[in-house]
Amino acid sequence: MTLPVLTLVVSTEQDLVAVRRRAHEISSALGFGQQDRARIATAVLEIARNALAFANGGRVSFEVEGSVPPQLLTVRIADAGPGMPDPASMPAGGLVAAQRLMDQCLIDSAPGAGTTVILKKAMPERAPVVTADTIESLTARLDAFEGKYTYEELQRQNRELLAALTDLHERQDELTRLTRELEDTNRGVVALYAELDERADHLRRADNMKSRFLSNMSHEFRTPLSSIRALSKLLLDRIDGELTTEQEKQVRYIRKAADDLSEIVNDLLDLAKIESGKIEIRAAEFEIDSLFSALRGMMRPLLADAPVELIFEPCPDSPPIYNDEAKVAQILRNFVSNALKFTEKGEVRVSAAYHADTGMVTFCVADTGIGIASEHLQLIFEEFGQVENRLQNAVKGTGLGLPLCAKLCALLGGSLSVDSTEGRGSVFSATLPIYFGQATDSAVERETLTIEAGKRPILVIEDEPEVRLLYESWLRNTDYQAVSVKNLREADQMMKLITPNAIVLDLLLGEDDTWRWLMELKAGEYGQRIPIIVATAVNESNKGKALGADAYLLKPITRSDLMSSIDRLVDPQEEDV
Ligand code: ADP
Repeated sequence: MTLPVLTLVVSTEQDLVAVRRRAHEISSALGFGQQDRARIATAVLEIARNALAFANGGRVSFEVEGSVPPQLLTVRIADAGPGMPDPASMPAGGLVAAQRLMDQCLIDSAPGAGTTVILKKAMPERAPVVTADTIESLTARLDAFEGKYTYEELQRQNRELLAALTDLHERQDELTRLTRELEDTNRGVVALYAELDERADHLRRADNMKSRFLSNMSHEFRTPLSSIRALSKLLLDRIDGELTTEQEKQVRYIRKAADDLSEIVNDLLDLAKIESGKIEIRAAEFEIDSLFSALRGMMRPLLADAPVELIFEPCPDSPPIYNDEAKVAQILRNFVSNALKFTEKGEVRVSAAYHADTGMVTFCVADTGIGIASEHLQLIFEEFGQVENRLQNAVKGTGLGLPLCAKLCALLGGSLSVDSTEGRGSVFSATLPIYFGQATDSAVERETLTIEAGKRPILVIEDEPEVRLLYESWLRNTDYQAVSVKNLREADQMMKLITPNAIVLDLLLGEDDTWRWLMELKAGEYGQRIPIIVATAVNESNKGKALGADAYLLKPITRSDLMSSIDRLVDPQEEDV
C-alpha cells in the first residue's frame, strides 16, 4: 500500500528551497530524528537540484509505503529531461551523496526518456504506524509555501550545519582520547611483554637449576643406595654367617626401603634427563605383538593370585613401528602396573589401534578399577601427585610415573590422554607416531611457519632449547624474526621454504658436521648471499672466518653482540623474501 503525502513542482531555485523545507517537515512529522531529517532533506535537495539543472525542473512526490512496520518514506523525483545513458557509471555527485544518505536510491533513466530517482528510508523503529488519517492531519499541518521561508530556511540550514560541526568536534575529541588510551595500553602491553620475558627467563633458569639439582642429587644417592642394597643382599645370603629371625626381618625392611628409594631416584633421574634434553631416543623397528608378549612376561609376577585378568589384544593391522621400543614399554609398564594396583576385580586390557590416515598408533590400557574423579585428572600428571583413595596406602608408588610417561610420550613425538569414571575404571592412552621423526619434523612444515609481515627471518640453528628461546626473545621486538631449528637437516628443510636474511649457527650440534656444512653453503651462489654468524663455544675464529663465517661470536654472547652483528650484516635495503 502506498499513501501519497505531497507532490511539489520544481521549476525555480526558490522551489528547491521549498522542497528541502518540505522534506524536512515531512520527515519530522513522520518521527525521524534530527540527523535523519537533515539527511533526507539534503538527499532530496541534491536530486531535485539535478532535475532543475539538467531537465529544467521536475516533480517531487513524497509517499509512505507499506501498512505495517517497517514502513518506508519514499521520495520520487521525476523529470522529463534528456535522461542518462548509463546511470550506474555517473561521476560522484548528488546521486552518490543521496545513495549514501538514504537506505535505497533507485534510478530509472534512459536517453530521451527522462529520469526518475526514487529515494527510500525506513521509518524509525518506534515511530507510530502511518495511516491515511495520519497523512490527512499531516498535510493539513504543512504550511503553505511562502517566499518568507527562504530566510528561515537558511537559518535552519545554518543551525543544522552548526549542530553537525559540534557533533564532528565531539567525535574528534573522542577519537583523540581513544588514540591516547590505545597508546597508553600499547605502552603497558610492551612493558608487560618485557616483564614476561624476564620472568620466562627466570623460570627457565630456575627449571634448569631444578633439573641440575635433581640430576646431581640422584647421582649422589645412587652410590650409597647401591651399597645398602648390595650389603643387605650379602647379609640375607648369609655370606657373613647366620641371622636370627628378627635380624632377617630387619634386614629385609632395610632392603625394601632401599629398593623403593632407588626406584624414586631412577624416576627422578629420568625426569631430570628428559628436562635437560639429555635423554637419547634409540629408534628401531619392532612389532606390537612382540612388545606385548614381552610386557606380558614382565607383568605376570605382579598378578600373583589377584582376581584380575590381564589381557593383551592382538593388533594384526598395524605395520611394524619404528620408535624407541624400550621407552614405549616403559610407558605401558607404568600404565599396566597402575591399572593392576587400582583394580580389585575384573580385567586390565591392553590394546593398540593403528590410524593409517595420521600414521599414529594409540596404545590403550583400560581397567575396571576404582577410577579417578575428574577433578583429580590434572593432579596425577604433576610430579608426586597422588589421589587420596582407599587403595593408595596399601600400594607402592611415588607419584612420578605418569609425569614421566607424559614427558616420554612427548619425546617420542606423541601425546598421552586419560579417560576415567570414578567407580567404573580408567583408560590411559599413549598416541605415538609409527615412524619416529615424522611428527617431530612438522616444525619445518610450511603450515606451521609464519613470518610476520615486514619482518626479516633469521635462521637460528641451535640444539640447546634454552639458547634458542633466548635468541628468539632477543629478536622479538625488532625488525627480525627468529626461525629456529635444532640441526642441519632441519636447517636444509627450512631453507627450502624461506631464504633467511642471516643465519646464526652453533658449531656443536651433536653429530652434525657443521664446518663442512658452512663451507659447502658458502661455496654456493645461494649461500654467498646469506650472512652467517657463528655463535659457538669453540674458540676457532680464524678457521670459521676462513670457511666463510661473516661474524664469529664466542659464547656466552650478549644481546648486543648478536644484534650488532645482524644489523651490520643484513642489508637494510634488501627486499624480504
Ligand atoms: P604412582 O603410581 O607411583 O603413585 P603415577 O604418577 O603413576 O604414580 O600415578 C599417580 C596417581 O594417579 C596414582 O597414585 C593414583 O592415585 C592415580 N592413578 C594412576 N593410574 C590409575 C588407575 N589406573 N586407576 C586409578 N588411579 C590411578
